[in-house]
Amino acid sequence: MSNQVIVLSEKELPKVLRFYETNKVTRNAPGVIFAAKIADTSITAYRSGKVLFQGAGADREAARWGTVTKVTPSGAKGDTLPANFASLSVLGSDETGTGDFFGPVTVAACFVSSDQIELVKELGVKDSKQLTDAYMQHIAEDLKRVVTYSVLTLDTIKYNEIQSRGWSQGKIKAILHNQALQQVLDQMHPVLPEHILIDQFAERRVYYNYLKDESSIIQDKVFFSTKAENLHVSVAIASILARVAFLEAMDQLSTKAGVTLPKGAGPKVDQIACQIIRKKGEPFLHSITKVHFANTQKALNLAYKK
Ligand code: MG
Repeated sequence: MSNQVIVLSEKELPKVLRFYETNKVTRNAPGVIFAAKIADTSITAYRSGKVLFQGAGADREAARWGTVTKVTPSGAKGDTLPANFASLSVLGSDETGTGDFFGPVTVAACFVSSDQIELVKELGVKDSKQLTDAYMQHIAEDLKRVVTYSVLTLDTIKYNEIQSRGWSQGKIKAILHNQALQQVLDQMHPVLPEHILIDQFAERRVYYNYLKDESSIIQDKVFFSTKAENLHVSVAIASILARVAFLEAMDQLSTKAGVTLPKGAGPKVDQIACQIIRKKGEPFLHSITKVHFANTQKALNLAYKK
């Protein structure tokens, strides 16, 4: 569900109330002066001049009245986005695997034009919290046939090499996002997205500082926001494609290791890592993990205790 809040002056507010008068409903909540419900949107006006639009049509209804202050779905932080952002043609990017001891970092970028939005929703892109790994794997192939995308996989060997040269995870992510976005822009050429949205992991200034030595730096029309997968389907799909690439790599590594590799970086991960040291040796473990994680030492302690 999408939420939009606008703030109106004393002069503008009565216009909104008149517009929705025939759909008026009663709502006895503190500060509420007016409430209405239309087919896909609830409208609530407050004494403060704030009007809240909730539901599938929230962007559209809020846009009628101009001055949208901010898209605010469930606590997203970041740039103020244009009104009805969710319905624009957007190139989005997201990554996976940075919190997982085993397996690569994967980054995906994906362009969805405004006229593809309904179709990709039809193909099963919905609120990310409802998406299981199996479901994402199920819909990924169909999505790939529809959208323009790029998926980059940074395997653990390369990851460990650049990490040991002093690259932070932030820098690694920034460079991969920038590359994935560039690859999609190249494929789209000469078409351009209306906007670019990056699922935010660093402040804008920090992000571009990471990129300062890159030959091509994508800056035009770029927005940053956390929880960006809820702001545009392009990021939701990028998130799915990155996750699916990560899962594929984990399957391959599990086969190589002879054990199902767990995700994350918890105690289960330490135990499996310990087993792998005993069966296949330390160098093998290092080749399939992010060595700088604390799990490495924990697994070594488990493997060599007593
Ligand atoms: Mg993200």
